[in-house]
Amino acid sequence: MSVLFETTALVLAWRPYREHDRSYSAFTREHGKIEFVARGGQKPLAKLTPHLETVAEVRLLLVDGRQYFTVAGVDRSRGFQSVYSSLTKTTLVQNAFALVDMGTRTHEVDEELYPFLLRWVEFVELLPDITAERAGYLLASFALKFLSHLGYHPELNHCLMCRVAIREGNYRWHALKGGVVCQSCFEKDAEQWFSARLIDDTTLKLLRFAITQDFPEQLRPHLSGQTLSTFHETIESLIIAHFPVIPAVSMREACKHL
Ligand SMILES: [Zn+2]
Repeated sequence: MSVLFETTALVLAWRPYREHDRSYSAFTREHGKIEFVARGGQKPLAKLTPHLETVAEVRLLLVDGRQYFTVAGVDRSRGFQSVYSSLTKTTLVQNAFALVDMGTRTHEVDEELYPFLLRWVEFVELLPDITAERAGYLLASFALKFLSHLGYHPELNHCLMCRVAIREGNYRWHALKGGVVCQSCFEKDAEQWFSARLIDDTTLKLLRFAITQDFPEQLRPHLSGQTLSTFHETIESLIIAHFPVIPAVSMREACKHL
């Protein structure tokens, strides 16, 4: 027997499903990530998609069928007008949400993630005009906080090996082990750390700032070309090391033409 239920959600992503249907993934307050289908044949998709495919907090009415959830109704409980009218803002929300879709499994309740996603959308909604570099940086700082939330908080202050506080210019970064190793540990066991690479002090400071400071603070740091490149490479290396699927387009690439 089918069961109807209601939930509040942020739609993360959607794709075509079968010939006439669409499949959605959404993050809910109560159930973590869920997936559901909108069936083209049953109820006109045209009525549902405007609410499901723009950035919004929605109230979903779902049918829990035997194999999957089907959407029976949707109401927008909160819209984000300034996100709709800006390509930069839409890009920021959609790419962040695509990353969340990749990094989470269905039906794992996570009470902190929903407010975190909502805070991101609220922050993006209020953004002033920003450059493509700033947009890429904001997205990467979102990714870093999200990784950290998932349990991949990189060690940026103490050597992963000997736990001694990192000194300027005297460490390397190792994505798979998730942090920095001091030069002396690196030299002691070059085989274990062979893929560790040098990053500069400015990049390390920017990583620390991105992870510890809240979204609105991320408009402050000065972004210089070389530091920004290393910053992006470092965060992408973390995503590659820990995610089951890797985004097709890098965060920097996604914001390049904004
Ligand atoms: Zn060490």
